[in-house]
Amino acid sequence: MSESEDDWLSLMPTEPLQSQCCGSGCKPCVYDVYQKELAQWEEAKAKKDRRLLTKQKEESCNSELNPDTFTAFKISSVEQLTEDTYQYKFELPGNSSLGLNLGQHIVLRGMVNGLEVQRAYTPISPVNAEGYFEVLIKCYKAGLMSQYIKSWIEGDTVFWRGPFGGFPYSPNQNSDQVCAALPEVTASQQKL
Ligand SMILES: Cc1cc2nc3c(=O)[nH]c(=O)nc-3n(C[C@H](O)[C@H](O)[C@H](O)COP(=O)(O)OP(=O)(O)OC[C@H]3O[C@@H](n4cnc5c(N)ncnc54)[C@H](O)[C@@H]3O)c2cc1C
Repeated sequence: MSESEDDWLSLMPTEPLQSQCCGSGCKPCVYDVYQKELAQWEEAKAKKDRRLLTKQKEESCNSELNPDTFTAFKISSVEQLTEDTYQYKFELPGNSSLGLNLGQHIVLRGMVNGLEVQRAYTPISPVNAEGYFEVLIKCYKAGLMSQYIKSWIEGDTVFWRGPFGGFPYSPNQNSDQVCAALPEVTASQQKL
């Protein structure tokens, strides 16, 4: 194998482990992101142009939440509410908002014993909160991400991507109309 082929192989994206998928049906999922990066790598390799690999990274270099890439957010406060439940506040630049809609969640990336783990969390702060967002997390003794989260202290930086999910809700809409808008809800579930 020639040296340049070795170079290209070292740049090839790595397929995510099962632990890296939060399992909540995010669009894009970590596997979609991998497929996109792989296609980008294949195109760059075919055209022998490494600049095509850095295009996506340059686009993600900002402090806004993004579903494709992780963005760093600083923890501004940690509050223990019960024996195993914690409220974490994160800084947002200026007076910006996280930009989530009703029922949307975000995905956290953590490293536990050298293993990358991703889990979903739903912010509890108002959708229009400016300059911050908050999450309420129950930490499980045997939980992988829980171990990482329990280590957080004020000033730490952690990585989120999103938003994902949500409800098709608009003001003055009743529950029947909301259920009708959900294709996966069956007629018997609508009556409940
Ligand atoms: C869309 C979505 C939004 C979510 N939002 C939040 C949120 O806002 N706050 C929050 O605290 N969590 C939320 N979760 C759950 C969160 O994503 C993780 O599943 C949770 O933090 C446990 O992750 P872990 O890696 O610590 O545990 P894992 O390593 O995945 O699990 C290990 C062990 O932990 C225990 N455990 C894990 N999850 C549960 C559970 N749900 N009930 C009982 N025991 C459990 C079990 O003993 C399990 O065997 C959300 C999940 C989804 C899908």
